[in-house]
Amino acid sequence: MKALVYHGPYDVRIDDKPHPTIQHPEDAILRITSTAICGSDLHLYHGTLPGMQPGQTLGHEFMGVIEETGPEVEDVHVGDRVVIPFNVNCGRCWYCNNNMWSQCDRANPKTKDIGATYGYTQLLGGYDGGQAEYVRIPFASAGASLKVPDDIKTDEQVLFLSDILPTGYFAADIANVQPGDDVAVFGAGPVGFFAVMSSFLRGAARVFSIDHWPMRLDRTKSLGAEIINFDEEDPVDRLRKETNGKGVICIDAVGFEAVGHFAGYSSHIHNDGKKSNNNLHHDHSTVSNPQYNPVNPLQVITWMAQIAKKYSTISIPGVYGSGYDQFPLGLLFNRNIQIHMGQCPVKKYNEQLLHLVETGRIDPTKVISHTMKLNDAPKGYEGFDKKSEIMKIVLKP
Ligand code: NAD
Ligand code: ZN
Repeated sequence: MKALVYHGPYDVRIDDKPHPTIQHPEDAILRITSTAICGSDLHLYHGTLPGMQPGQTLGHEFMGVIEETGPEVEDVHVGDRVVIPFNVNCGRCWYCNNNMWSQCDRANPKTKDIGATYGYTQLLGGYDGGQAEYVRIPFASAGASLKVPDDIKTDEQVLFLSDILPTGYFAADIANVQPGDDVAVFGAGPVGFFAVMSSFLRGAARVFSIDHWPMRLDRTKSLGAEIINFDEEDPVDRLRKETNGKGVICIDAVGFEAVGHFAGYSSHIHNDGKKSNNNLHHDHSTVSNPQYNPVNPLQVITWMAQIAKKYSTISIPGVYGSGYDQFPLGLLFNRNIQIHMGQCPVKKYNEQLLHLVETGRIDPTKVISHTMKLNDAPKGYEGFDKKSEIMKIVLKP
């Protein structure tokens, strides 16, 4: 079968791989009908997360039709059309039983310290992913339980229940977005898009969407967000002005590969209550060739520490690897800010979100900008990585 295989940083290829087989009585085999490329795949593509092994199939956002089931699989049958959560779940451990699906105690064969996901690093279990024609679903009674209702005609309506739609909702949930709140969503990629949508679903009064790609900001604007292009203005200053200094509920839908703002964030960090040295921050004229730090893992964290409403909870669905070494702890402490972060426990949300899709309350297909053949996935990675033209790619095996 065909699969998108990781060979090394910036090197993914369509290879021929053996058809997956049932390896355990609780396994099922899924024939994939639609799959997608996620911002989380880009960390692997960049080689910025440790523990990737060449030969692994990527992809953790997929759906399809059950082709075969092991003898101990319950309530999942050959021919079922299902969406698979990106978390691998046993469905029976304490974490699965308590809606903490992203930290299943039994799904990760490599360690008990962290849950497992499809198509990711060895640390997350090393399972083959779903950017392929077929995939093995371990613990299929739990993993393949989200059946697509007959009235859902296209895969595109429900595909994102595998990850980015629940992740966007999770982001608003762990930020405890309440009716009347003003929310800032950093990052207008696919996760930011669904975090904006979910903040409005939870009753936010105003949602600000911060990025620097006009095409992406146009999409979040179409959801009703007020947009801030951080190439053009300082998001912290603007948010302070818009909220009369009160601040906002903050969501980081960017993660550790954040683009750093020109002239450094350090001039902004102020623990002493004095106004920061904004001259340095704004005076681009002192440098002839203004440019961005390509990556500043603390950029969004720092902005949020400055502009989060006092006593609020910062929500971080954006992925953080272990490779950054500074943290504005003092600022967060001084302002009584809490942090809630981690992988989304997809199964906690996906049935309710499915009902919102089914009843036409939300339309997840609005995030899609491109559909491609699985064969073209390497080109898809290259284009999606540039972020300027592509919002979200659906791949068809
Ligand atoms: P993406 O790479 O397509 O989008 C990220 C966006 O952030 C881009 O548009 C980029 O321009 C923008 N950005 C970069 N620096 C910024 C800055 N300083 N301020 C504001 N915006 C900035 O990725 P995505 O698919 O939207 O995913 C976003 C993050 O969420 C990634 O880190 C991904 O790994 C993570 N993720 C986490 C979960 C989870 O369960 N927690 C699930 C899915 C994705
Ligand atoms: Zn994802």
